[in-house]
Amino acid sequence: MSTTEHPSPPSTDSTIDDPQTDSQSSTTPDDASELFGADRELLVDNLRYVLDGRWRATRDDVRTRSNRADLLPDPSRTLEQARTRILDEMRELSAQGFASAGFGADHGGTGDIGASITAIEMLGYADLSLMVKAGVQWGLWGGAVENLGTARHHEKYVADTINLDLLGCFAMTETGHGSNVQALETTATYDAATKEFVIHSPTPSARKDYIGGAAEHARYAAVFAQLITAGPGQEPESYGVHCFVVPIRDADGNDLPGVTTSDCGYKGGLAGVDNGRILFDSVRIPRENLLNRYADVEDDGTYSSPIDNPNRRFFTMLGTLIRGRISVAATAGAASRKALAIATRYGLVRRQFDAPGDEDEIVVLDYLGHQRKLLPLIAKSYAVAMAQNELTEELHEVQSASPDDSDAGRQRELEASAAGLKAYATWHASHSINVAREACGGAGYLDENQISIIRGDIDVFTTFEGDNTVLTQLVAKEVLSAYADDVQGLSAGGWVRFIASMARDVVVEKTAVRQVVQTLLESSDEDTEKSALTNRGTQIRLFRNREDHLVRTCAQRLRRATDDDNDAFEVFNNAQDHLLKVGQARTERVVLEAFVQAINDCDSRAAAELLGKVCDLFVYSALEADLGWFMMHRHISVERAKAIRRGVNELCRDLRPYAATLVDAFGIPEELMGAPMIENH
Ligand SMILES: Cc1cc2nc3c(=O)[nH]c(=O)nc-3n(C[C@H](O)[C@H](O)[C@H](O)COP(=O)(O)OP(=O)(O)OC[C@H]3O[C@@H](n4cnc5c(N)ncnc54)[C@H](O)[C@@H]3O)c2cc1C
Repeated sequence: MSTTEHPSPPSTDSTIDDPQTDSQSSTTPDDASELFGADRELLVDNLRYVLDGRWRATRDDVRTRSNRADLLPDPSRTLEQARTRILDEMRELSAQGFASAGFGADHGGTGDIGASITAIEMLGYADLSLMVKAGVQWGLWGGAVENLGTARHHEKYVADTINLDLLGCFAMTETGHGSNVQALETTATYDAATKEFVIHSPTPSARKDYIGGAAEHARYAAVFAQLITAGPGQEPESYGVHCFVVPIRDADGNDLPGVTTSDCGYKGGLAGVDNGRILFDSVRIPRENLLNRYADVEDDGTYSSPIDNPNRRFFTMLGTLIRGRISVAATAGAASRKALAIATRYGLVRRQFDAPGDEDEIVVLDYLGHQRKLLPLIAKSYAVAMAQNELTEELHEVQSASPDDSDAGRQRELEASAAGLKAYATWHASHSINVAREACGGAGYLDENQISIIRGDIDVFTTFEGDNTVLTQLVAKEVLSAYADDVQGLSAGGWVRFIASMARDVVVEKTAVRQVVQTLLESSDEDTEKSALTNRGTQIRLFRNREDHLVRTCAQRLRRATDDDNDAFEVFNNAQDHLLKVGQARTERVVLEAFVQAINDCDSRAAAELLGKVCDLFVYSALEADLGWFMMHRHISVERAKAIRRGVNELCRDLRPYAATLVDAFGIPEELMGAPMIENH
C-alpha cells in the first residue's frame, strides 16, 4: 500500500456538449443517462482522476480490498461484539501491510506518508470506527513513538505496533483539560535514585479521559505529563508537557499495579472503538521510556533539550503529531461524500406528488428545493477534496524532507492549514451528513440505509484532534501574528498585547500567491462590482478581499489593548467572533484556490468544464451563505446579492443532470453504498 505511482488519466480528449446547454432540456435521471451515453463513463473516470489526486493508486488498492459489504458497521452488534469485530478487521489490515506506509523505512515501514493518510481516508467509506481505531493504533500511538521517540523506542516498539503484537493508545486528554494541553495535570517525576519516572494523577481531574483503546485493548499508553526533575544540587523543576511510554495492562488484559482503567461505555457513535479512562497511582517506568527526540533526562536527573524555549519545544513536539489531524480532516471529507452520494441516488429514484400531465410523480431531485439541499454541498465536497489533496501532499513533502532541509516557516503554515481544513471539513461533514439524512426522509433515519450511522459516527470529528473553535482561532492567530515565533503559547492577553505592538504593515498575507491565481486576478477588475461574477478572478478577489478586510479590522480592534485603560484579555475576548471569522475566511479562500488549481491542472476538457460549474456553485453558495457580511461591508451590492441567489438556482438547474455523474466520480466501492431504500425502488 505504499505506492505513489501516477496512473495515466483515463483520456484527455473526451468532449461533451456544453453542460449548461444540455441541462436546460433534461431534468430527469433517464434523460441524463441518455444524454451522456458512453461519454458519461469517461467523464466519471476523468473526474475521479482529478479527485483521487497524487495517491490514486493507493485509493484504487483500498477500493479493491474494501469492496465488501461485511465491512459496514452493523448496529445490531453489542458493544463487545462491535469492538471485537473492529479489532479483527485491524488484524486483516495489518496482514495486508496496511500500516507500513506510515512508518519510516529505517523502522520497518515504507515511509510513504501521503499513501498512509490516503489509505486511512478511504476507510471512511467503510466504517468510521475502523478508521478511528486504526488511526489511534498506527497514527496516534505509533506516530508518537515514531516522531517523538528515538532509535531505542523505534527498535523496541515500531515493528510490533505495525503487526499489532503491541496495541497502544494515545493518552493526552484529561477530564480537566482537553483543548489546553499545556495545563495537563499528570506528572512524571524523575527519581535519580532508581533512574525511573513516577507517573501520577495528582487529582481526579488529572484522569486521562476518552482515550481510544484505553477501555479494553491497549497494553501501552503514550502518556503526556508534566516532566519534573532536578539535576545534582538543584531543586525539582517542571519542564512542561512531555510524552512517556507507560505499560498499562499485562498480556491477559489486567491493569498493571498502580494503573486503574475504566470504560467510557456507550457513546454517540463509533461503537467499535473502546474509549476509556486511566488513573495513575505513582506508576514507575524506566528513564528510557521518555520519548526523547526533543528533550532528555540524564541518569543524574539533568534535563537537556536542543530547543531552549519551553513554548517552542512544546509546540514543536505537538507539530510533529499533525498527521492525526490531517487524517481526521481527510476522513470527514470521505464520510460527507458517501452520505451525499447515497442521498443523491435516493433523490433520483424517490418520487413525490403528481407532475401535471404526467402519469408518474415527480422525482424529488427535480424540485429546486431539493437540488439546493444537495448540490451546493456536493460542490463544497469537491472543493474540500481538492484542498485535502494539497494538504496531504504538503504534509508528505514537509515530513519526508531530511532534518537538514526542515523549514520552520513552512511547518507553521502547514500546521495552520491543517487546523483550518480540519475544522472546515469536519463542520462540513456534520452539516452535510445531517442534510443528507433529511433529504432521504423517513428512510434516511433507518440504519439499514447507513446515513444515520454515519451521522452518529462523524459527530465527534468536530471535537477530537482539536476542537474546531479552538483550531479556527489558532488559524486566525497565526495569520494575524504573521507566524511570529514568540507568540506561540502566549496567553490570550499576552498574544493580544503582541499584536497591538506590531507595526501595521506586519499584518499582511505572507503566503506567496500561486501563479494560476495571480493570472486570474489580473484578468479581473479590481472593482469587483465592475467584473462579471462568473469571472474566476472576481470570485477569488471577493474571497481575498473578505479575508484582508477581516484581518485589517480585527488587528485594529485588537490594538485597543495598548490603551492603558483596557484590559488585554477583555479586548481579545470582545473580538473573538471577529477572530474566528478571520480563521474561517482564510480557510475558505485557501479551499477555493486549491479547487481552482485542480481545475487548471485537469487535462480533460469535459471534466474541467464540469468542474468549473461545480466550482461556480461552491463560490455562489459560499457568497450566499455570507451575504450579510459582504453587503454590510459593501463588498457586494444589493443588485449583485440578488444575482447571487438567482445564480445558485441556475447552477443547481444546470448541474441537476450531472448529479449522478458527480457522486459516481467519488469512486466509493459499490458494496459499501448499499441502501435498501434505493435498491427497492
Ligand atoms: C470519542 C472520543 C475519542 C477521543 N479520543 C482521544 C484519544 O484517543 N486521546 C486523547 O488524548 N484524547 C481523545 N479525545 C479527547 C478529545 O481530543 C477532546 O475531547 C478534545 O480535545 C476537546 O477537549 P474537551 O473535551 O476538554 O473540550 P473543551 O476544551 O473543554 O471544550 C468545550 C467547549 O468549550 C469551547 N472552548 C474551549 N476553549 C475555548 C476558547 N479558548 N475559546 C472559545 N471556546 C472554547 C470549545 O469550543 C467547546 O465547545 C477523544 C474524545 C472523544 C469524544
